Amino acid sequence: MIYADNAATTKLDDDAFELMIDILRNNYGNASQPYEFGQRAKEKLIEARKTIAECIGADPEEIYFTSCGTESDNWAIKMGTLGVEQIITSVIEHHAILNACKAMEATGKNVKYLPVNNKGEVNPEDLINMIGEKRSLVSVMFANNEVGTVEPIEKLAETAHKNGSIFHTDAVQAVGHVPINVHELGIDMLSASGHKFNAPKGIGFLYVKKGVGIKPFFDGGSQENGNRAGTENVASIVAMACALKNNCAELAENTGHLKTLEKILIEKLKKSGLDFIRNGSDVHIPGNINLSFADAEGEMILHRMDLKRICISTGSACDSVNTQISHVIKAIGVPNRYAEGTIRISFGKYNSESEAEEIADALIDVLK
Ligand code: PLP
Repeated sequence: MIYADNAATTKLDDDAFELMIDILRNNYGNASQPYEFGQRAKEKLIEARKTIAECIGADPEEIYFTSCGTESDNWAIKMGTLGVEQIITSVIEHHAILNACKAMEATGKNVKYLPVNNKGEVNPEDLINMIGEKRSLVSVMFANNEVGTVEPIEKLAETAHKNGSIFHTDAVQAVGHVPINVHELGIDMLSASGHKFNAPKGIGFLYVKKGVGIKPFFDGGSQENGNRAGTENVASIVAMACALKNNCAELAENTGHLKTLEKILIEKLKKSGLDFIRNGSDVHIPGNINLSFADAEGEMILHRMDLKRICISTGSACDSVNTQISHVIKAIGVPNRYAEGTIRISFGKYNSESEAEEIADALIDVLK
């Protein structure tokens, strides 16, 4: 099998797996218990929080562990907006943001949606016009999960701060894949999900800058400084810190490798004479290739590739049951003749050059 759907989820990092096994088998204490076995688990949590904070340029007290990216997004949107007049987000957000915003709309909150250009880029000028005098929660994704476009985060955060607004970013596709320093970029809140950067599924985190004053999402015990109740998933948290540390240490090397894989695949497709468009911006998540083929059907391509034991996607994983043209492909205005033939190949650090060649050959075979 060739796995090339790393934007949907990734293979667990080997070191992270070993750490997890040790905790699950031998160090399974509850981090809230005062005896040594519990305190050993607590020490591991402290260490993991420190490691994660270092990887994104935050302070350890600014990291809150959650169960996934969706939870982090919901927490930011539902609890970060209590004191603001409106929410501003973009039309190409993941449904974790869009549906959380819809839920807030149902409570009477005003939500505005920033448009994007044909590369999927938000224009900070649009934010200036939309925000006006109103103190807002601005939530724009770091990188899009379908077309991979990286947004002008620093500029957007700076614009939001001009009238005291809060800036959140869904960085689920970006953390562990591009350099991020939250303090330097001026980010107030950031969502991340472990399974997108070679950590296990079911673990994530929310960074909240000191002073932003978010309210707890889960009520219960005093875990996470009283802000996110629930016994900590120590094994997954430790594995997440390990995977992120490894990915960040290998960032330049991985990026170079992924760019090579992109080039191999695209050049082969170009030579084949197939009629296709590559979607997204030049500034994109390394390894993300979103293609729209003329007069083709993404679903058909996906299943034919599956028969060749190659895993790719038509759009975002969370939308695989919805076979309509995705909201992102619509928003960037892919012409009708191409839009239905959209697929996403997302390489990860474990893919090889020969796999990129094989995927290109398989696509040419299927499409011809
Ligand atoms: N945000 C983005 C941009 C994503 O790509 C995803 C998952 O695909 C999520 C949020 C949701 O993350 P999780 O699967 O951890 O809930």
